[in-house]
Amino acid sequence: MRVLVTGGAGYIGSVVAAQLLAAGHEVVVVDDLSTGHADAVPPGAEFHQLAITDLDPVVGGWGIEAVLHFAAKSLVGESTTNPALYWHNNVVGTVALLDTLRSFDVSRIVFSSSAATYGDAVEQPIREDAPTRPTSPYGASKLAIDLALTDYATAYGFGAVSLRYFNVAGALHAPAGSFGERHATETHLIPNALRAAGAGGEFALFGTDYPTPDGTCVRDYIHVVDLAEAHVRALDAAEPGRHRILNLGSGRGYSVREVLDTVGTVVGRDVPVVERARRAGDPPVLIAANDRARAELGWAPERDLATMIADAWIFEQRAAEPD
Ligand code: UDP
Repeated sequence: MRVLVTGGAGYIGSVVAAQLLAAGHEVVVVDDLSTGHADAVPPGAEFHQLAITDLDPVVGGWGIEAVLHFAAKSLVGESTTNPALYWHNNVVGTVALLDTLRSFDVSRIVFSSSAATYGDAVEQPIREDAPTRPTSPYGASKLAIDLALTDYATAYGFGAVSLRYFNVAGALHAPAGSFGERHATETHLIPNALRAAGAGGEFALFGTDYPTPDGTCVRDYIHVVDLAEAHVRALDAAEPGRHRILNLGSGRGYSVREVLDTVGTVVGRDVPVVERARRAGDPPVLIAANDRARAELGWAPERDLATMIADAWIFEQRAAEPD
């Protein structure tokens, strides 16, 4: 299939683009490089530096059959102080993209949704029919797009799949290159802990008084390569007139302290932890029920937490090397 990947110069988009190429698809990447890196676009993909709102005049000539839509602003904290950025970029931008696709009769779409659509869930593990009560403008923007996709599937025959990611980690190391997390503002646990253990420096642990077994937050981590495999399958699973919503997680949770222990083992040095107050908006526990993705995609996560951390560590060390 000839597939458009928006945000294909970012972390998850670049890994999925590389895996799509490896699976024999043709890939056209669009990214405005506001947070992505041109050298993260995998070799073999066609690349256009463009915003998703500027596709209308050009995309018709590209022969696109399907879209994987990753381009988005994705910092929860930033979304609370600058919600306009999230409503414009994520929601208004995506609706413009959907209308462009509609005018060119492209109706197969896989969307990068998020566990943030659920907010503070009452029941764990979280199933797709759990109430959606996002606690940040970021989560609200992802939910708004999911709602639009349901309507576009019903009224215009879109075949849409929303994949609700839990905590994505790890990197892809393949013959085509290494693809991983390179955020200018790094907020995520695993890269921050690897940097603190590797280069020295403090790791700030946010919150040790949660109602969890060791007092730190529990999250469900999924390897980015397992996540990419689900996208390749979702592309085939998209059916005209139907919007599927699928959680992507491993189905088990690890506390921040358990993750830090594994980081220490992988790096061979303990993470120098400084205990801090809770970070605003962090729910105590988020664990995915992944039965629906298993059943509908014939998919299962295969890579464990130690593998995610080891792959992320290889990527961190390569990124630190001079060119
Ligand atoms: N966390 C932390 N220090 C950091 C980054 C994250 O203690 O430098 C904690 C954070 O408070 C949360 C967990 O690690 O409990 C996972 O955070 P992350 O930002 O990786 O993912 P989130 O679950 O917020 O999407």
